Amino acid sequence: MLAELRGLNEACGVFGVWNHPRASQIAYYALHSLQHRGQEGAGIVASDGETLRIRKGQGLVTEVFSAESMDRLHGRAAIGHVRYSAGGVNGFENVQPLLFRSQSGDFAIAHNGNLTNARALRGMLEEEGSIFQTAADAEILAHLTKRGRKGPLPERLMDALAKLAGAYAFVMLKEDALYAALDPHGIKPLSLGRLGEGYVVSSETCAFDLIGAEHLRDVEPGELIIIDAEGVHSRSFASSEQEALCTMEYVYFSRPDSNLRGLNVHTARKKLGKALAAEFPIDADVVTGVPDSSLSAAIGYAEAAGLPYELGLIKSRYVGRTFIEPSQSLREQGVKLKLSAVRGVVEGKRVVMVDDSLVRGTTGRRITTLLREAGAREVHVLIASPTIQYPCYYGMDTLSTDELAAANHSVEELRQMMNADSLGFLSVERTQRVFQCGLCMACFTGEYPAREVEADV
Ligand code: 5GP
Ligand code: SF4
Ligand code: MG
Repeated sequence: MLAELRGLNEACGVFGVWNHPRASQIAYYALHSLQHRGQEGAGIVASDGETLRIRKGQGLVTEVFSAESMDRLHGRAAIGHVRYSAGGVNGFENVQPLLFRSQSGDFAIAHNGNLTNARALRGMLEEEGSIFQTAADAEILAHLTKRGRKGPLPERLMDALAKLAGAYAFVMLKEDALYAALDPHGIKPLSLGRLGEGYVVSSETCAFDLIGAEHLRDVEPGELIIIDAEGVHSRSFASSEQEALCTMEYVYFSRPDSNLRGLNVHTARKKLGKALAAEFPIDADVVTGVPDSSLSAAIGYAEAAGLPYELGLIKSRYVGRTFIEPSQSLREQGVKLKLSAVRGVVEGKRVVMVDDSLVRGTTGRRITTLLREAGAREVHVLIASPTIQYPCYYGMDTLSTDELAAANHSVEELRQMMNADSLGFLSVERTQRVFQCGLCMACFTGEYPAREVEADV
């Protein structure tokens, strides 16, 4: 049960647009630019000021929406979601946004993150008479909002949000307003932008660039933003806690052209690569990265080490992200399909191979073999983040501890398992020094910023 609840709403993407003549189209393009955050489902809810209409489905954005289905989604406001599910919780009903019809008006919610008191809240709500139709955390917020004290929606939402624990970025749509809310630690990314006469909110700023919106600011931890006919209103529903943005957003999840807390993701990754060069100087001939997520770090390493950066590995464009494959054996096949070594680059060379992170160790093992088969003389594997030793309860698919390679093996054991000449991980201290904002590093350190286990409400 815990696994089921925990497996939901992984690195999903959320988006909202208010006051634009082609709101649903804007959401559609934005979801394309957030597609890397989830490929298992996508949905858009649009409002024409009276009625909310929905289109959602399993699969990629291109598979879910047709020109015809988009035509139905009229109105000047919309929210959208791309879904990454892990833990085997699939099913159409869990694809978001979730749309609720009620006598007091329609209401739609989309969520990125993971509530750590979901089970307790569901139990409490079911006792009170709620019946849940999905396994999505977004439905909990809907029930809490509906059951709370009477009064204007913003107040009821604030009360409901204050009951949640864990990580969340929500976008919500009603006929008369768009809402966006971020958890009190700001574990998930969420930004506010301006588009023409209207406003947009997005998990990542890369969506703003695509649709031509101007980035105004990031949503603050514990902030509820309300956008309506009068403009943007900001409310605080939780006392400001220590900010703890997910480090993995910089390391792996986010797109290199996004900015998080004022720092460009590609730039951050390059800095991680440079820090890696300071920590692990290696006598080598070439540096290569694992396309695409570690290329920035590999470039940073090469620059700092004064070594040539080369394309030693090529990725097929047409295979999905490794983690989408449900089983380990399929995942290994996925890696094989995805990557090939470039013989002309690595043959006879001492190669530094930089990867962004190591979770199960599948990629590292496979790539060392690929590089050796292509004639590499030495393969040094460097990981541009610390060892992942603890589970994430905030939405990353980190599974149980026994699946985390670094939780069960020493670095030397891992080196032997992947048949590398050397293996190094960037230290926690050097990782921290790259960033100015407060970060969650719980999967590296075991120090959880927000409540990490199911507890009473
Ligand atoms: P591993 O192969 O060690 O299990 O996972 C690490 C590799 O998978 C890295 O190359 C990383 O780019 C990629 N990866 C795919 N999905 C994820 C994810 O959800 N989190 C992290 N940290 N890495 C992931
Ligand atoms: Fe991100 Fe790791 Fe914290 Fe989870 S535990 S939110 S993956 S930094
Ligand atoms: Mg990778």
